[in-house]
Amino acid sequence: MSGSSSARAHAETWTVLRLMLWSADYLKTQGVPSARLDAEYLLAHVLGLGRLEMYLQHERPLTARELDEFRPLLKRRAKREPLQYVLGRQAFRDLDLEVRPGVLIPRPETERLVEEVLTWARARGRGDLVGLDLGTGSGAIALSLLSEGPFERFVGTDVSPAALEVAAGNRDALGMGERLELRAGACFEPVRAGERFDLIVSNPPYVAEAERPGLAPEVVDWEPAEALFGGPDGLEVIRAIVRGAGSALGPEGLLALEVGAGQASAVAALLEISGDYRDVEIRKDLAGKERVVMATLAAMTSHRGG
Ligand code: SAM
Ligand code: GLN
Repeated sequence: MSGSSSARAHAETWTVLRLMLWSADYLKTQGVPSARLDAEYLLAHVLGLGRLEMYLQHERPLTARELDEFRPLLKRRAKREPLQYVLGRQAFRDLDLEVRPGVLIPRPETERLVEEVLTWARARGRGDLVGLDLGTGSGAIALSLLSEGPFERFVGTDVSPAALEVAAGNRDALGMGERLELRAGACFEPVRAGERFDLIVSNPPYVAEAERPGLAPEVVDWEPAEALFGGPDGLEVIRAIVRGAGSALGPEGLLALEVGAGQASAVAALLEISGDYRDVEIRKDLAGKERVVMATLAAMTSHRGG
């Protein structure tokens, strides 16, 4: 694909298979994990085909235009930019969301968080729940809950204007303009005096500073730091949420948090000690890690100071 190899390409055509193998090899030399799979996704994207459809066209030659479109995408991935940013999309539950640098790529663990909240919401059996999604990022959590659960509307907040812009795009693409209100600000700043929610859900930044060297280049070099790091022990934003949630939840309101591996019992303890909550529960993700902490506002608390 370099100068000399593209000259050679005139003699020897780039077929789908040949380009796929060459690209997978190239990504591998750049240390890209799942190089073959990523090469397939990038090529399928340019060809406008599904990965499996592409297999039926292995011998198809690429046009000059397809090659021109493919080259810069491959280069971006070789620089360890996440595949999702290069493609501009990430699937999250039933949704196909836009993502780009400036917004966290939604993770499968967070689909678990949504699942737990849905179970709670469905048991309440009404269609009129109002939720707050703190640090909404791409809008993944709020938009999934609105599309799958008995929620009437959500407020989504974020400190990042770039994230709020992406969330607004995703919301509008799903025709949910009326149901997700986006507000800028840290933690409970954007919540109005006296405003109460049935649910406060958050996947806050929770990575501890000390874990920085262990993160993949795709994460640490490309995803926004304010979406990842939660101070020295990772719990800084979580502490602020636990402190503030009591006065923004309605009676029997649920607080549901995604936490980092190894943090669940500390977060559960924060909730117990606050005295504001009952039924503090920890749930595991598919990898068996304690990932979600949930608690219900104790009956007396929502009246206090309100
Ligand atoms: N909810 C999205 C998801 O699950 O994919 C994004 C989660 S990302 C881990 C955390 C988000 O919280 C980022 O969008 C970040 O900008 C935002 N954030 C960080 N600190 C915050 C704070 N103190 N208050 C509100 N949002 C914050
Ligand atoms: N799950 C992300 C990671 O592994 C972190 C997201 C977060 O801090 N909420 O890097």
